[in-house]
Amino acid sequence: MKNNVSLTSFGAAQTVTGSKHLLRTPELTILIDCGLFQGIKELRLKNWQPPEVNPAEVDVVIITHAHLDHCGYLPLFVKNGFRGRILMTPPTAELAAIILKDSAEIQEEDAEKVNKYGYSKHAIAKPLYTVKDAERAIAQFETVEHSVSVQLSDNVDVVFRKNGHILGACSACLSVYGKSIVFSGDIGRYDSDLLLPPSHIGDADFVVMESTYGARLHQEEDVFECLAKIINKTIWKGGTVLIPCFAVGRAQELMHAINQLKQESRIPHHLPVFLDSPMAAEATDVLSRYPHWHKLTAEQCKRVCHEVIINKDWHGTEKIMNDKGPKIILSASGMLSGGRILEYVKHYAPHTHHTILLVGYQAEGTRGRALQNGSRILKIHGKSVQVNARVETISSLSAHADQSELIKWLDTAFSRKPEKIFLVHGDHDAQQVLKNKLIEERGMDVYIPQQNEEIKLFSTE
Ligand SMILES: [Zn+2]
Repeated sequence: MKNNVSLTSFGAAQTVTGSKHLLRTPELTILIDCGLFQGIKELRLKNWQPPEVNPAEVDVVIITHAHLDHCGYLPLFVKNGFRGRILMTPPTAELAAIILKDSAEIQEEDAEKVNKYGYSKHAIAKPLYTVKDAERAIAQFETVEHSVSVQLSDNVDVVFRKNGHILGACSACLSVYGKSIVFSGDIGRYDSDLLLPPSHIGDADFVVMESTYGARLHQEEDVFECLAKIINKTIWKGGTVLIPCFAVGRAQELMHAINQLKQESRIPHHLPVFLDSPMAAEATDVLSRYPHWHKLTAEQCKRVCHEVIINKDWHGTEKIMNDKGPKIILSASGMLSGGRILEYVKHYAPHTHHTILLVGYQAEGTRGRALQNGSRILKIHGKSVQVNARVETISSLSAHADQSELIKWLDTAFSRKPEKIFLVHGDHDAQQVLKNKLIEERGMDVYIPQQNEEIKLFSTE
């Protein structure tokens, strides 16, 4: 209907990746987030299918943060005909540019490798998109500071409010014909050492809310203590601590924590820390350019940026692996789904004196989730790799709010109870648990959208 405002989730509906939420209004068609599906093959294959909405029909794309499952589909969306505005905060724009180029490079590299070693069933493997496609999308980016309202049309405007997830991450708060519709984005933590807590938003009629950890509470643990224990235990045995982590967000928080531990002499000062990712140096520099977006002082920022050894090329990766001494290696991807980390896992996982430390969310179907579930054989590049190294998890280092923090966000970000909550970006079971809790304890009206289901929010008549 022409006068309806409706919501359709083309991704991150009863799953945690592929965020794409379409808001149809009489004036504009707006896509909130344009993310890649990640994890199990069935999901990843969806990235290759034509988009459910014709990109040329969309007027505006709003990106909540720079993670691939929220912005990683942009190059294809633009390639397939999207010519409108792409709005995001300044740090998100810088990080997304780095991440999209890196993602394209990894896909080109992986396709090249598959073709070279012939471990694909397909005749010729192709990248999902190329660096050129990514650059074309990046050229369309338009930045908006947080808390600054942007009029998108006569009756639609948007304002970004920080949500504490990663640098630059925000909720997108839209005002549509007088109704307030808030897209939470990924909600972060209230007690991060690096990032500011989620901001107050005000009133909301509709809240489209993530629910990744809707059924889980992060362990009450002293992160620094756990980290020091794991590092010391491993290096006393002469081992390496391998931390799969995304080079944006987690990496900087970990680097800061490791620096603090060194400063406090809780781990050896001389212990080498490598950050092996082509985009790590750039991503870390972004931190120092946006001091009002985080808690670190200029001095702490400098240390985070300069006290790790940053490696960018494959040659350097081999050199790090040939070095026999104890060390810490941070490398992407965080869920072991691709990238440089796989070379390290092949090298270190078979030996008992090393440790693989998992710190972020591990989506279903990823090698990271398999490890977390106790699997001791990983399939990498067509071969089985035996895992004899210790596998540890520090869940409280997660960039995602847990169940109690999600509820805290609803309780504190809004001045009154929202009319309706739509839970997205979560596995079905986690969503059911959170839904029941919100209904029972807060008396809220909660709905879990299905993928591609068009939901009428209200009529403008
Ligand atoms: Zn995220």
